[in-house]
Amino acid sequence: MRRMLLIGMIGVFALTACQSETNESQPAKENASKNTTITEKEKPAKDESAEEQDKADQEPEEDQTEQNDGEKSDSSPSDDKNGEKEKPSQQPSDDSTAMVVEEPTSTEVVVNKQRKLPDGYTPPNLTVPEVPFYFDEFHEKKQMREVAARALEELFKGADQAGIDLVAASGYRSYDRQDAIFASNVQQHGEEHARQFSAVPGHSEHQTGLAMDVTVAKLSFQLSQDLGDMKEGEWLAENAHNYGFVIRYPEGKSDITGYEYEPWHLRYVGKDVATKVYNQNATLEEYYNLVP
Ligand SMILES: [Zn+2]
Repeated sequence: MRRMLLIGMIGVFALTACQSETNESQPAKENASKNTTITEKEKPAKDESAEEQDKADQEPEEDQTEQNDGEKSDSSPSDDKNGEKEKPSQQPSDDSTAMVVEEPTSTEVVVNKQRKLPDGYTPPNLTVPEVPFYFDEFHEKKQMREVAARALEELFKGADQAGIDLVAASGYRSYDRQDAIFASNVQQHGEEHARQFSAVPGHSEHQTGLAMDVTVAKLSFQLSQDLGDMKEGEWLAENAHNYGFVIRYPEGKSDITGYEYEPWHLRYVGKDVATKVYNQNATLEEYYNLVP
């Protein structure tokens, strides 16, 4: 008994001694910050991305800047909640007034809150672009139509040459997945909120296979409006058109596009249209004279 106590005390003493030794050699503050840094660095990359993915899937709707087309809420958390979907609000009441686009396969197709894709539309030639994603495993959202995927690869090459490190986050989204996302958003935040920040099924540009959301490691792979003020976002805004992409939801144009500013959402339209849209500082709605 006594011996154990003694050993215990020695143990405590030794522990304390070590600590004080450390404290003496380095100021406490420096220690603290160093520890934090080390901890963060030591986190295995895989855990980090998984964590981010979870975050992304859960947080979307909480923060305006990350909700939008509901991309971030597309994972299991949302899907799980969808299990309880019985709400009638899934089919928006005014969706019947929306017009169905005539040429859904056109790379110039305009899909928005007033214009929807035909029921059951699936884009042709979906493929996974060879660009870095923030997660490794295959997922539907890694895909884009081939023409857009090849263009995105060129954009990433150009960015890389300019010292810009982009990461792809979310591309194609099927009707069913959009449906699940929207239903989940309605359930969590009510239909009004859901409509503002996530697309009604059939109305998401992601369903065309021509859009990709991109982000950066510095933002922990989140979709944030902060991207617009970072060199990566600025590079995108100034150069995306050279590769056939437009920043689909520019700042200050939400009255026209129906969505808040999304510096991360790239939409492929081809170099010709993208360059004209860029030069006119326009949205697709303005360019095609489709302003609601
Ligand atoms: Zn998007």
